[in-house]
Amino acid sequence: MSVSPLERAAALLSEAKDLVILTGAGISTESGIPDFRSPGGIWTKYDPNEFTYQNFVANRAHRERYWKMSLDIHPVFANAEPNGAHHAVADLERRGRLRALITQNTHGLHQKAGSSPEKLIEIHGTALEVVCLSCGERLSRTEVQARVEAGEAIPDCRSCGGILKPATISFGQAMPERETALAFDHAEHADVFLVIGSSLAVRPAADLPVYAVEAAAKLLIVNLTPTPCDRLATIVLRGKASETMAALLAAMPS
Ligand code: NAD
Repeated sequence: MSVSPLERAAALLSEAKDLVILTGAGISTESGIPDFRSPGGIWTKYDPNEFTYQNFVANRAHRERYWKMSLDIHPVFANAEPNGAHHAVADLERRGRLRALITQNTHGLHQKAGSSPEKLIEIHGTALEVVCLSCGERLSRTEVQARVEAGEAIPDCRSCGGILKPATISFGQAMPERETALAFDHAEHADVFLVIGSSLAVRPAADLPVYAVEAAAKLLIVNLTPTPCDRLATIVLRGKASETMAALLAAMPS
């Protein structure tokens, strides 16, 4: 009797002792947050070349456009709820298999689904906080967003007058050293590396599965569309993250 890819993937997960999961924007599309590269995604509406770190710090006109865009997109992020795939990830942690959860997402849905902060590495930062680029003070995004909604076109730091920027890693901005080093360390020690909902087009996150496979991990990819790493994967499951992850967990011995 032949074993289906889903059953093989479930077996792989149930044998994992050091499971590392990497998630991308595709895990959250079913929560109503559009991804970056699919048709209708965020960057088909706004030009990503404009919203770089360099532009943000260079002049007030760019910052004003950024905060104006945030009036459009932040409520979608802030009000989103985790879907079945986020819950499946939290469930895998409860089953004691998870070594680390690395996410490229910045909107906090893994935490909302119950994944523990000690296991979570947000390699592209968090949209739920804002940081002053001069004095380093961190503020809650809700607080700063309320100032923008109340009519402040560009909220500056009230302590030092510096530039306030969401604590996300923008294009052109250096990756956070600690989180990046940690993510690669976990990838090196993974026995199974599971990617959920990422085009694997943005480095260095896209290097993590390659690194894990080179260090002998089995790679499992759950994504709607092909990725450059599919050829390295032991199993690729093409489908929606929530239903594929639910089917995977259902096929695992509890
Ligand atoms: P992506 O949009 O590149 O890829 C998402 C993938 O998920 C696609 O391959 C898509 O087919 C798949 N997908 C969509 N819905 C799905 C579903 N329901 N189930 C399964 N798969 C689904 O997102 P990414 O890989 O996370 O992108 C990389 C990162 O690039 C982002 O996390 C972001 O941090 C960064 N980025 C930053 C900026 C910026 O700051 N200016 C701009 C763009 C991207």
